[in-house]
Amino acid sequence: MPLADGLAPAPRGGLAPLTDPFGRAITYVRVSVTDRCDFRCVYCMSEDMHFLPKADILSLEELDRLCSAFVALGTRKLRLTGGEPLVRRNIMELIRSLGRHVRSGALDELTLTTNGSQLARHADDLRAAGVRRINVSVDTLDAGRFQSITRWGRLPQVLEGLEAAKQAGLEVKINAVALKGVNDDELDGMLAWCGEQGFDLTLIEVMPLGDMDGNGGGAVREEQFLSLRDVRADLEKRWTLLDSDYRTGGPARYVTVKETGRRLGFITPLTHNFCESCNRVRVTCTGTLYMCLGQEDAADLRAPLRAADNDGPLIQAIREAITRKPQGHDFIIDRRRGPAVGRHMSVTGG
Ligand code: SAM
Ligand code: SF4
Repeated sequence: MPLADGLAPAPRGGLAPLTDPFGRAITYVRVSVTDRCDFRCVYCMSEDMHFLPKADILSLEELDRLCSAFVALGTRKLRLTGGEPLVRRNIMELIRSLGRHVRSGALDELTLTTNGSQLARHADDLRAAGVRRINVSVDTLDAGRFQSITRWGRLPQVLEGLEAAKQAGLEVKINAVALKGVNDDELDGMLAWCGEQGFDLTLIEVMPLGDMDGNGGGAVREEQFLSLRDVRADLEKRWTLLDSDYRTGGPARYVTVKETGRRLGFITPLTHNFCESCNRVRVTCTGTLYMCLGQEDAADLRAPLRAADNDGPLIQAIREAITRKPQGHDFIIDRRRGPAVGRHMSVTGG
């Protein structure tokens, strides 16, 4: 059944906003809307991924109820991710429906992280639905390398999507995972290109996720780990990086590149220096709430979602889970033990 404005109205009645035991207001929720993807990036998925049965995945209506419950509990920013969010069938119905929270002023931002492959056909609709900014993952501007990293991706299709996003008036931030021996020689070129295109750029340290669940991934280990501290020091030999106060409450630190006027972010998830300001939680496409990207503790929101048509049990489950949000995370890359957390990014969402 198509989603329409008001089909799953946000619970009303002045609900107390979510605050965790450390006094952090939870205002940012990332929701994975699918575990599927049209790419098979080496650091994220194996080539022959086994995807979840459809019955396990939240329906679009359930995703709408879930997101709306968080909005009622004080979420100001909602990011849809995946897998690849734009390959989920009828995803625009959900995005259009969630746009009502932007129009009502309840949400400051409705956004998504995408690989860009489907942007050409969705950019205008996204803008019309209330999306203003998107993150697009592009690790390289070399078509051959792009194919090696994504296995199934084609760079020209993504570039076409980016052009459509620009034409539609969407602000774009490029996410690039920095990989030693893979794309570290073209970070200057990407910085310059982003400047020309009017895009911000965020570099991401590769995370040790997805190696331990027997479902592939793991093509990237510590050999390809590139410290962004070193990357920054190297970039500073050629670019003027001006410190910036800009913060999102997450693991990114930003500078402004004087030569381009654009923002450059560094996401170093293996460091602990951002946990004290953490304002976010993640929900998988099966409705599992992870209170911390680096910890295994989780809460099932699907059962309370499916238990009742009203959102009482769901809201209670969210509140209970937030009381368990840990103070900080536990990432360790250890050559002998492997990564501390074995989830795929495509399951948790990036
Ligand atoms: N498919 C969309 C995309 O690629 O943008 C959204 C989901 S993807 C899991 C979200 C982000 O996670 C992407 O920017 C991707 O590069 C990043 N990512 C995936 N696996 C990662 C890993 N092991 N370490 C660091 N970043 C990773
Ligand atoms: Fe797909 Fe994004 Fe994972 Fe690449 S990083 S395989 S595009 S979900």
